[in-house]
Amino acid sequence: MKQISTVTGPCPIENLGTTLMHEHLLIGWPGWEADTAAPPLNRKEAAKLCTERMLELKELGLRTFLDPCPIDLGRDVDLMAEVAQATGVNIICATGLYKEDQGAAPYFKFRAQFTDAISEMTETFVRELTEGIGSTGIRPGVIKVATQTHRISPYEEMVLRAAARASKETGVPITTHTDEGTMGREQLDLFAAEGMDLKRVIVGHSCGSADLRYHVDMLDRGCMLGFDRFGLEILQPDRLRMASLIGLLGIDLHEQIVLSHDSVWCWRGRPLPVPAEVLPNWKPTHVFNNIIPALRQAGVSQDKIDAMLIHNPRRYFSH
Ligand SMILES: [Zn+2]
Repeated sequence: MKQISTVTGPCPIENLGTTLMHEHLLIGWPGWEADTAAPPLNRKEAAKLCTERMLELKELGLRTFLDPCPIDLGRDVDLMAEVAQATGVNIICATGLYKEDQGAAPYFKFRAQFTDAISEMTETFVRELTEGIGSTGIRPGVIKVATQTHRISPYEEMVLRAAARASKETGVPITTHTDEGTMGREQLDLFAAEGMDLKRVIVGHSCGSADLRYHVDMLDRGCMLGFDRFGLEILQPDRLRMASLIGLLGIDLHEQIVLSHDSVWCWRGRPLPVPAEVLPNWKPTHVFNNIIPALRQAGVSQDKIDAMLIHNPRRYFSH
């Protein structure tokens, strides 16, 4: 039986169950270390908060949680392992690098002036995927990459190419970040140019666009789309995410869509300067408590809901 690496060890893909495909326990924007006046991360508090939230999700049926934090966004796989152990929920972590404007691009950009940085990135990803992250022995189950709005920078192109090469070498799939529902098609072009099977790609945050042509163009190429920012209404109203989702489900494209929130539970540096009232639904229970009932109300069958939360994650990891 095919297995996937989780932060607490290999798990048979059959056992993944209900899965949220894009959430974060902890994020730190690169440069958080420079804010020396910020309070240090209280790990005990963070573990407690994450454990409580995860148990709340488990109560709603959640069995697996993908935290696609790339290497350079404050990733903490020990925290993930602690929370997985305390709750019994599978947590899958990622290797990979974030987009240029919010990631830690300077290092590989500097190296790229003198060496083949794509090969070095590929080696970094493959090493984590095969030997584990640092000395933790924890292996990622996914490769994360990201692009900015309306363009893919030369640095981001290097990251995407390295991810495709690492994916082909290890069999581990790719999940992406897109901004404002742009550049998904161009991401797929780069992966295809590297010879990847696009079934092994999730174009993340595709609900940032309400353009059905954009969605269908990508789905026709075999990839999955993340409708994975429910509740993040500063960026796109849920009404538009729902309108596009219901449209795609109405033409039976449910086998290529996964649902999530891109929620962030803890931050390195100072706390998020956005009051909770601004984003009342940006919490990881929103899909279960509000989105699924609304889909049912719109006539979406339970089979299609199960496809997005249970069968599609399984199929994505088993290709
Ligand atoms: Zn994210």
